[in-house]
Amino acid sequence: MPAKGAYAYAEIVVSTPLDRAFTYAIPDALRERAMIGMRAIVPMRNQMKTGYIVALSNTTDLEEIRLLLDLPDEQPVFSQSMLELCRWMADYYCCSWGEALQCAAPPGMRVGAKMRYHLQQDRLEGRFSERQKKVIAALYSRGALTEGQLAKEIGRTALSNTLQALVRRGVLTAETILQQGGASIRTETWVRLVEDAVPDTENLLRFQRRAPKQAAVYLDLLHGEPERAATTMYEKHGVNATILRTLEKRGFITRFEKEFYRTPELSKDNRATKKHPLNPDQQAAYERIVAAMETDEYKTFLLHGITGSGKTEVYLQAIERMLALGRDAIILVPEISLTPQTVGRFFARFKEDIAVLHSGLGVGERYDEWRRAQRGEVRIVVGARSAIFAPLPNVGIIVVDEEHDHSYKQGEAPRYHARDVAVMRAKMNQAVCVLGSATPSIESYYNSEKKKFTRLSLLNRATSGTLPDVQLIDMRIETKEVGGKIVLSRTLEEAVKERVAAHEQVILLLNRRGYAPFVLCPQCGWVAECPNCNVSMTYHQNGALLRCHYCDTTAPKPVVCGKCHFNPLVYLGTGTQKAEEYLMRAFPGARVARMDADTTAGKGGHAKILGRFAAGEIDILIGTQMLAKGHDYPGVTLVGVINADTGLSMPDFRAAEQSFQLLTQVAGRAGRGNRPGEVHIQTFRPKHYAVQAAHHHDYAAFYEKEIHYRHSAGYPPFRRMANFAVESEDPLLAERHAVLLHRVTREQIQALSYQGVEILGPSPAAVSRVKKKYRWQLAVLSRSAKRINHLTRAVRDAFGTACETRQVQFKIDLDPYGMY
Ligand code: ADP
Ligand code: ZN
Ligand code: ZN
Repeated sequence: MPAKGAYAYAEIVVSTPLDRAFTYAIPDALRERAMIGMRAIVPMRNQMKTGYIVALSNTTDLEEIRLLLDLPDEQPVFSQSMLELCRWMADYYCCSWGEALQCAAPPGMRVGAKMRYHLQQDRLEGRFSERQKKVIAALYSRGALTEGQLAKEIGRTALSNTLQALVRRGVLTAETILQQGGASIRTETWVRLVEDAVPDTENLLRFQRRAPKQAAVYLDLLHGEPERAATTMYEKHGVNATILRTLEKRGFITRFEKEFYRTPELSKDNRATKKHPLNPDQQAAYERIVAAMETDEYKTFLLHGITGSGKTEVYLQAIERMLALGRDAIILVPEISLTPQTVGRFFARFKEDIAVLHSGLGVGERYDEWRRAQRGEVRIVVGARSAIFAPLPNVGIIVVDEEHDHSYKQGEAPRYHARDVAVMRAKMNQAVCVLGSATPSIESYYNSEKKKFTRLSLLNRATSGTLPDVQLIDMRIETKEVGGKIVLSRTLEEAVKERVAAHEQVILLLNRRGYAPFVLCPQCGWVAECPNCNVSMTYHQNGALLRCHYCDTTAPKPVVCGKCHFNPLVYLGTGTQKAEEYLMRAFPGARVARMDADTTAGKGGHAKILGRFAAGEIDILIGTQMLAKGHDYPGVTLVGVINADTGLSMPDFRAAEQSFQLLTQVAGRAGRGNRPGEVHIQTFRPKHYAVQAAHHHDYAAFYEKEIHYRHSAGYPPFRRMANFAVESEDPLLAERHAVLLHRVTREQIQALSYQGVEILGPSPAAVSRVKKKYRWQLAVLSRSAKRINHLTRAVRDAFGTACETRQVQFKIDLDPYGMY
């Protein structure tokens, strides 16, 4: 339980990079309410900041101490254990405690606040500066004003200091005004019958005659539910707020405000209401998990089950058992909008016991779901990355579905990985963590080899089906024999034709959206490039626009070359739009649909397309990697990969891993019903081990090759990695600070006398300019995770001191994904 009692001082952390707590005195009026974990509004350098109370005490060594201004909530936002989890996160990812808490809090918690100044006329004595006199005059003639309003009256010069000085002398008092908005509790008006106001029959009859509407409301409350929402009464009896107010004045009813939750819409997958009896493999995995749950000890399992092996059913039944044991559950899924089916299965099984947390919800909806969890009104939270911070009071099991998915890594500071936070949260709460995947991340599989995690395997499909047959199509040969640009090889085209004719469904993966990624002048070689980023712009057919996939800038389709005015320009490469167009021409009878970021924009965009696909209204579905996410459509018998090689050439040590995962996952969409599936992968690199392993459904073989490569190159999981980046709109500043960063890093390694820390770089990022900023990066690697941690903090501080301009930004990323 959070400490409560009349404490005089609070230790408060705020969301700034400075990793320390500040002491504030608690005003008398707030002492009874102050609790650890509560949100607090505090003054800091003439600003109002939202912070969190991390400790309370009755003594302080400080001589000058500021007052905290307000405690906006009745209850703490964080429990003691969440405070500790965030402290760990701050240490592990090298951010401040305040930043970690800000990240874990529901959105909209950072409220704005303003000060309004009141003149205390009886304290006016002594001498005042010219500026102070101006303030006094303004407040005298205009009444209480905020700093902004005062600035309009008398100018901004030295205003803050002048106000502070006057407040210290007691000439002014400051009042805080919290700005509404953000996460707030919503209420609606209700009416309640006043029990002892029942009139006798005669009076009642008169009442009905004179005020029939009022009487109708009154009688309804008397004979039905005595408490009802005002809106219900409006609709039912055609009354309005005035009539209800009159009834209240006459003493028949009282009106009151009642809290209510904004509930998000849920999609339910009703197939899943039915519990499957577990098959022997599932049963064995289930029993191991349950055995651990029953001991109330920490344990992490890696549930490695091939696609369609029934991992979800194991999660569902394990969670059911955990609820029976009296503890709560968190389920993380990669991205709610992409996985409506998985989420629907959880809802169908657990109904109103679930709250959902993800970024697709409005701030209010999210806050309400969050509070339902905090108050124990639900036992399960399902959500994307940030749901790992769900405030369930007694988490006993955390499931991370598709644990290899990159969306678990946050792209902005603090760059945490939700899977790693999940493991730590489970550890701190003596809970069980289940990481599930058909293609586990190298890190997790390595941890299972090292016995840090317990591996459980599901080797067969849950339904009668088997894994689909995977064929490789060597596009080097194909292009030689057919010539020209090819979307579909002859084999794949033939296979699509057959499946469509048989009324079966086809999924085609092309991991590149738009029409053509490259618009080129054949005469002089000019390429349409983004004005803000160092990349070519992609031509998009709808709207006839060029679009940058890094900053989303658009430009009209160029008619002539931007340099030599030649036309026509050529549209090189194939994106999903061009492929869709091709498919419509090649298979005139088939119903073709496209699923990529362009067709799924807007609320429920994914669910709409997937719903049509499930209903059999689409024969061929072409799309980007979002097609590979956990979908379970029994009608799909053919999966084609149009180009397996796009990911392989990425400048990232995880390129092979990602490609293997994508190919295996998309292949896993085929043959999940009772008809066998087939998969064709088009590739120019059929010998590559990632492609070969996908070809043979051989995770173990892939892991062997990959772990060997990671070992010999000294990449994670053998060494811990941190990535530092500098960014600036000025290319020279960026480059100069990259050199400075390198020097600082070397100096810090020396100062700490660390042996065996390797520096990679500095080098320009793979895309050297994004959103107008030039980006350089530098990575450090060491066998000692602790050293990387200390070094990162040291470099950050030293670079902060050495860097003399605000035009350069410094960013850190521990355990980075994607080298930018
Ligand atoms: P995974 O999550 O491992 O990819 P799913 O949980 O989606 O696999 O299961 C694939 C299909 O098998 C689903 O349609 C599911 O309803 C079904 N299924 C799961 N377990 C069983 C079982 N024990 N018996 C029969 N069908 C099952
Ligand atoms: Zn040209
Ligand atoms: Zn751009």
